[in-house]
Amino acid sequence: MRIILLGPPGAGKGTQAKKLAESLKIAHISTGDILRQNVKEGTTLGKEAKDFMERGLLVPDELMSKMLSDRFSQADIKKGFILDGYPRNFAQALTLEEIFKQRNLDVDMVVYLDSSDAVIIQRLSGRLVCSTCGANFHITNMPPKKNGICDKCSGSLFQRTDDKEETIKKRLEVYKNEVSSLIKYYQDKNKLYRLVADGDAGIVLNEIVALTKKLHDSLKV
Ligand code: AMP
Repeated sequence: MRIILLGPPGAGKGTQAKKLAESLKIAHISTGDILRQNVKEGTTLGKEAKDFMERGLLVPDELMSKMLSDRFSQADIKKGFILDGYPRNFAQALTLEEIFKQRNLDVDMVVYLDSSDAVIIQRLSGRLVCSTCGANFHITNMPPKKNGICDKCSGSLFQRTDDKEETIKKRLEVYKNEVSSLIKYYQDKNKLYRLVADGDAGIVLNEIVALTKKLHDSLKV
């Protein structure tokens, strides 16, 4: 199964993608995670991307294309993937199509997780991330058992520098400027499925799983 997850920052793409990748045994490709890893390791890409990320802006397309193309050259892609955080604009959608063409791949479904601004700001401003395993928590919605410590691996939790209210607003503005062209692009290809993601993450996950099953059955016919 090859899935693209679209949606505003804070719609729960990362949370859903991790769970889906585990249950479907496919690769999870999060462009935000790859970039953050590069920033952490101080690579050339990380150094080039850091400032854009801290300001809530998109990292330039040329850097993203190279990064994505490298990621799609890895063997684990063959078992299927869930792409989270890419494409973020129309040019990236075209780049992705080119990468797929070169590798004889196609996307099965594009799930658009929609969320309201109020929910997004509440979720992101309270989000905590594990510095070791990347698991997400929330100060009030999903607090860790021990303050500042990851339930899963005991790593320390931190707040992302781009999860400050001002930066969240900037990220939302950037997102809204670009998303309609992406929605139209995938709608025209009959690949788009829209879900409201304001509610409980477990319910949203069940809805996505139901969609994948329906699609899987229809592909078998
Ligand atoms: P995310 O974890 O998906 O919210 O991404 C965090 C930040 O990484 C974004 O605010 C951007 O600065 C950068 N980023 C992630 N994916 C992309 C992308 N496809 N294109 C450009 N910048 C990206």
